Amino acid sequence: MSDKNTKKRFTAVISSWRQIQLQNFTSWDKLASFLQWPEKDKEKVLKKAIFPLNLPFRLAQKAETNTLQDPILKQFLPSLEELSSPSNFSLDPVQDKNFQKAGSKLLHKYRGRALLVTTSACVMNCRFCFRKNFAYEELGKDFSKEIQIIQQDPSLKEIILSGGDPLSLSDASLEKLLQDLDNIPHIQRIRFHSRFPIGIPERIDASFLKILSSLQKQVVFILHVNHPKELDNDIYQAMKSLQKIGIPVLTQSVLLQGVNDSADTLQKLFEDLSDHGIIPYYLHQLDRVQGAAHFEVSEETGKQLMKELSTRISGYSLPRYVKEEPGKPSKTSISFL
Ligand code: SF4
Repeated sequence: MSDKNTKKRFTAVISSWRQIQLQNFTSWDKLASFLQWPEKDKEKVLKKAIFPLNLPFRLAQKAETNTLQDPILKQFLPSLEELSSPSNFSLDPVQDKNFQKAGSKLLHKYRGRALLVTTSACVMNCRFCFRKNFAYEELGKDFSKEIQIIQQDPSLKEIILSGGDPLSLSDASLEKLLQDLDNIPHIQRIRFHSRFPIGIPERIDASFLKILSSLQKQVVFILHVNHPKELDNDIYQAMKSLQKIGIPVLTQSVLLQGVNDSADTLQKLFEDLSDHGIIPYYLHQLDRVQGAAHFEVSEETGKQLMKELSTRISGYSLPRYVKEEPGKPSKTSISFL
């Protein structure tokens, strides 16, 4: 195939995931009508949420109709419960601001690795997101300052691309960023943290895979998934295409009240992932961000769940149960034995 034709084909694929994104539900009344909510349930919706509704069509299709008690819907629908504001829930529970390097989009918390907030944009807006209150895009779309900081710090071996969702960036921006990182001799690994494929698996397309394949450094992909209903064959295929080019795929999940706080649900999630060669890596205790108190599961309950799971599933299918405590040199493991 000539270069011209290759380019044309890639352009067609790229526009397809962008077009799919345009189908996202961003207005609650359209979603209400799509999922046929009873009138009484419409009163429970937070209609003018500052962090707006943004739900991919694919995920909405998986939600049960006629009820708000669906584990997918609960993660994305702004609800009046968000107005409850206990004093121990804050705007910045993980204190990102304290770890910002020189006013940049680079956060340096742990030895040897730093996290780059690539964008504020996501393909879906999770109600419990601990970064939902920050407009990182105000810091600009260019990464030259961050690349310069990384170049000057040989202690850094790994860069974590997060956000927002790094896959919200265009391939052109991602390619430039990845190549710049790849060219830094002391960087050994580039890690993606993304939830994008759960909403639009088409994002893992030929163009993106080609960019990843061109890198010298090891890439690691961490998929954010919270409930087995979020998964399907298209998503497994997308992850398989990453694995085929030598990229390990792991997951992180957040323990969420009313979504996945049962041993049966978590067992299914972790075993379904393992069945497809995807390693469950982290189960996170909720970060206490304002508006998300109704999602919190107590650590005591979390420990009981982990204890129960440890008797049901293989050790490699059991993720680490962790929480983030700002200022600590690593994530804190929550012991359950
Ligand atoms: S996809 Fe991740 S970064 Fe985006 S809203 Fe959800 S939790 Fe936050």
